[in-house]
Amino acid sequence: MKKIINTKLLLIFIPALIFSMYQETSAQRNKTKAKKPAAVAAKPIAPTINYTISMSKPWTHLLEVEMLFNWATMPEKAELKMPVWTPGSYLIREYARHVESFTAKDAGGNDLTWRKTNKNTWQIETKGVKEIVARYNVYANELTVRTSELNDEHAFISPAALLLFPKDQLNAASTVKVVPFGNWKVATGLPKVENQTNVFRAENFDVLYDSPFEVSNFKEISFVVQGKPHRYVVTGEGNYDLPKIARDTAKIIEEGYKIFGDLPYNDYLFILNTRGGGGLEHLNSTALQFGRFNFTTRYKDFLNLVAHEFFHLWNVKRIKPDTLGPFDYENENYTRLLWFAEGGTAYYESVLMRRADLISAEEFTTARETQILALQNRPGRFEASLEDSSFDAWIKYYRQDENAVNNQVSYYDKGELVNFLLDVEIRKASNGAKSLDDVLRYLYAEYAKKNKNYSPEDLQKTCEMMAGKSLNDFFEKYVRGTAEIDYNAVLSGIGLRFSTGESENKTAYLGANLRQDGDKLIVTSLPKETPAYEQGLNASDQIVAVDGNRATQTFLSSYLSERKPNDRIKLTVFRFDELREIEMTLGGRAKQDFQITAVENPTEDQKRLYREFLGVELK
Ligand SMILES: [Zn+2]
Repeated sequence: MKKIINTKLLLIFIPALIFSMYQETSAQRNKTKAKKPAAVAAKPIAPTINYTISMSKPWTHLLEVEMLFNWATMPEKAELKMPVWTPGSYLIREYARHVESFTAKDAGGNDLTWRKTNKNTWQIETKGVKEIVARYNVYANELTVRTSELNDEHAFISPAALLLFPKDQLNAASTVKVVPFGNWKVATGLPKVENQTNVFRAENFDVLYDSPFEVSNFKEISFVVQGKPHRYVVTGEGNYDLPKIARDTAKIIEEGYKIFGDLPYNDYLFILNTRGGGGLEHLNSTALQFGRFNFTTRYKDFLNLVAHEFFHLWNVKRIKPDTLGPFDYENENYTRLLWFAEGGTAYYESVLMRRADLISAEEFTTARETQILALQNRPGRFEASLEDSSFDAWIKYYRQDENAVNNQVSYYDKGELVNFLLDVEIRKASNGAKSLDDVLRYLYAEYAKKNKNYSPEDLQKTCEMMAGKSLNDFFEKYVRGTAEIDYNAVLSGIGLRFSTGESENKTAYLGANLRQDGDKLIVTSLPKETPAYEQGLNASDQIVAVDGNRATQTFLSSYLSERKPNDRIKLTVFRFDELREIEMTLGGRAKQDFQITAVENPTEDQKRLYREFLGVELK
């Protein structure tokens, strides 16, 4: 998954450092807990499960669900459960809170007694009947890639947020009939049931919950890549050029195909809503959201989003980390591998975009510089490793607060950087014979295609196999540990060097991250060891004035540029509801101008490895 947060983190010292942060996710299953019921004992009789989803009053935001559950071995107390999260987005979201008007009847229409036994379980007294018809409504008024929305424009349906599953029946097949409002059309990655209108089939619940629906008067365009049909459906107006999007997406798909040698689906669906932001990966579809008037000014960001979610069809959906599938839908699914599943996918956005010539080699390198700048200004890099950050996604990355800068790293941002460095390291060690492509290909052939998940140890071993040497030091320091990254030790392999550009001249700085909110200047976060942090500014303080002058972001930045390190300033701030004056001594810091450039006098090997990597000559 990828979340586009259009956040401008304005460091006073660095006037406009723009972090375009991506976040995204997937899931893990507790293998001892999440049993695969169909695999045990004598062949059990499979239940029949048919859903009907209606939307008769879109303006109420209520999706109406009827679930027919017929089972020859129906228990005395049948339990229907709502997932608490959806794979790809690692946060407990409590979808059950939107369920209302629940009823349960037998095949003859007689009421069955039921009660809730925990937050997401409806227990029904079956009294010997073999068929239950449960009906309920789900309030759906939140457009994100992991929730559902119904209104007078469309329905976007995230099945994990809508459809109950019978306890211990996650391997069961089901059908879904969608009854659209008015003349709306229905799109989903699920295969159609022949000779029926808007009825689809899911072979099990992992597939069902992995297949969102878009129901509206969407625009659409279809195209073929490597003989496979692909389709965009777009709800919402905007300044997009659909044929151009299809052409550029086809280039991205071709580059993915070149890496893996196949497109492992019958067809692929891109669902695009021109509101919200971000994307979520699925087996043969993706849900994308992008601002309606951003398709010209931020077109490359849009293509990055497309490349990211599409690449996931291999990396995470099929090349699966230890615990990410089959899934436990009722609990957190912990993994230490999101830095590869997400960070690696974020890195391959740029790789695919570069290979498809949708970005230049300079743009590729500039993106690394931006990531290094962000990481090096984040004290949290000494607090959490990439594995820590992956494991704690559920309580940290998805629940960021003002202290995140001090106690977290992003498994997306640092993960992308470390995957880039790992790629360079493998290329250097193998003298260009192997790359991170080979790691992915191996994981695809030896794990994905054999239906095995990979562990952190499997990943390291595969990287070492391709490098032809131990990478334990690399993994210890940069994946499992919090060591400062020695960029030059790695980058020199392809003839690049990293320089901080730090000069002797230090300029005055305060170090608080700020946000201009209308006419209010608000402190958003305080990185450790900055003057603002050490001298008592708080997150959420509103800075009203500096030395008696009205404070705005622009003014403060300009005012500080004329001060010197150790100068004193007086800030007037609102803390909660009280006005305060705080005297501060400014710190001094060298201006950072991080750059990746060519080494002086590169060797022929360095030149060749660079050319193989970025497709242009090193200069
Ligand atoms: Zn992702």
